[in-house]
Amino acid sequence: MTNKEGTKYIFVTGGVVSSLGKGIAASSLGFLLQRRGLKVQNIKLDPYLNVDPGTMNPYQHGEVFVLDDGSETDLDLGHYERYLDMSLVKGNNVTTGQIYNTIITRERRGDYLGATVQVIPHVTEEIKNRIKNPGRRGEQYDVIIAEIGGTVGDIESLPFLEAIRQIGQEEGSSNVCFVHVTLVPYIPTAGEFKTKPTQHSVKALREIGIQPNVLLCRSATPISEALRQKIGLFCSVQTKSVIAAPDVPTIYEVPLNFHKSLLDDIISDQLDWSLPQPDLSDWEKMVEKIKNPKRRIKIGICGKYVNLKDAYKSIIEAFVHAGVESDSEVQLVWVSSEDIKKGGAEKFMHDINGLLIPGGFGERGVEGKIEAIRFVRENKIPFLGICLGMQCAVIEYARNVCDLSDAHSYEFYRDLKHPIIHLMADQEGVTELGGTMRLGAYPAKLIKDTKSYKAYGTDEISERHRHRYEVNNVYREMLEKEGLALTGVSPDGRLVEIIEIPDHPWFVGVQFHPELKSRPTRPHPLFRDFVRAASDHYEGAQSGSGSNSQNENVKSSA
Ligand code: GLN
Repeated sequence: MTNKEGTKYIFVTGGVVSSLGKGIAASSLGFLLQRRGLKVQNIKLDPYLNVDPGTMNPYQHGEVFVLDDGSETDLDLGHYERYLDMSLVKGNNVTTGQIYNTIITRERRGDYLGATVQVIPHVTEEIKNRIKNPGRRGEQYDVIIAEIGGTVGDIESLPFLEAIRQIGQEEGSSNVCFVHVTLVPYIPTAGEFKTKPTQHSVKALREIGIQPNVLLCRSATPISEALRQKIGLFCSVQTKSVIAAPDVPTIYEVPLNFHKSLLDDIISDQLDWSLPQPDLSDWEKMVEKIKNPKRRIKIGICGKYVNLKDAYKSIIEAFVHAGVESDSEVQLVWVSSEDIKKGGAEKFMHDINGLLIPGGFGERGVEGKIEAIRFVRENKIPFLGICLGMQCAVIEYARNVCDLSDAHSYEFYRDLKHPIIHLMADQEGVTELGGTMRLGAYPAKLIKDTKSYKAYGTDEISERHRHRYEVNNVYREMLEKEGLALTGVSPDGRLVEIIEIPDHPWFVGVQFHPELKSRPTRPHPLFRDFVRAASDHYEGAQSGSGSNSQNENVKSSA
């Protein structure tokens, strides 16, 4: 399918409540249209005033998803990259903060001289401009799928809704499709699904001039044909376009269900496309494997935000992808670093097959993480440390193997005797916090015959970063002499990117974030090999040769 008729648009809005899975819906739609031969681009419009989510607390926002170009973006971009298997750029995430930043800078420069600068038309024009020119400059797309953050009815999303209404008006109904994701709650005391919230939310959309073409009805269990008819009648949407979107065991099943409900056919009919049927066999196979694993392994994850799964979204997904490769379902056992500090590592980790320490900021919980790392290092349990997790592994090694009992990170204390983790030289003097870390893709060189080299199958890699601190070069020689292998470094040799313990089944720490580049059908090599090693550990424990007994008592799982 060529782009002769110009780009078309699909707008995805959400109603009733947040967290309905709009991002998954937009990604699934993009995936299906891409599989039917279209050149697709997904973008996210976030109505908040932050320029990007980089300065937000994970409790507010969940994970910050870093792109190759170093932009810090919404976690939905992670879904887009995973479902569409493509790398996105800064322009794929637009925020109110960016829009106002641009407009106010222009106003101060005098670009609007003589005019009153207003939400309509200035803000809405800037929004339209960004929707129409996403991704890489000058690239043409058959379809742009724009997801609007928040819920219809929010004051702050009004300029975005007005902008997409205008695009609908200007481009016409064969070029623009409005998809509204809504909730159909089940009320147990009445024994019924209720359609009223959906009716109200569509009413709110219509009041601002948007008539949805498709409704994606989220519910706990599938809704009936009769209910879809009723919703369609009240909302002026054809019954066939009222799609039941019940909860599913894995998010990767969503596009398959959409396809079964003919969602991609309905949209291509409206947008006048005649598209070949998609080949979904690889995806179906992957979903089957996710749903029917051979074994369930337990990987402990020790971080600050144990109660907030969205803070580790990409890590959770990377484990799903890696699990498919080794026929293992990874059950993540969330261990609080505070608990470990109080009760010891053994109590919380005696039955795990692997430990992951994710990235993070700030000192809270660090001592518990270091203790957890000591436990898996000594007990030969597979380990993957990411960013702060790798830094903690180096501190642990310096303290317990190299006998530098007061080794620590300069991030937490300034007058250290052994700042084994130090501020990177180019971070000195940085005072602004937004967008100033070492961000985005950087190349690294790997040493042959190491676990990381074996995983990647090459000695040249590129990975995404988000940090200010690094392994202190002053201690490199000592660490190596004491048996810590520095197996990956920046091409100029100045920054340590990967550490390993050769005399351990699988102990790898990385300064970057491999989880950001894992894709459902192409798991990240380090996650893949980590899960393989943890699966071997599980098998060893099952056959009695491992040191750990298996215990079905899981604290909580993802
Ligand atoms: N806080 C550490 C640093 O800035 C680690 C960052 C991270 O884990 N993303 O270097």
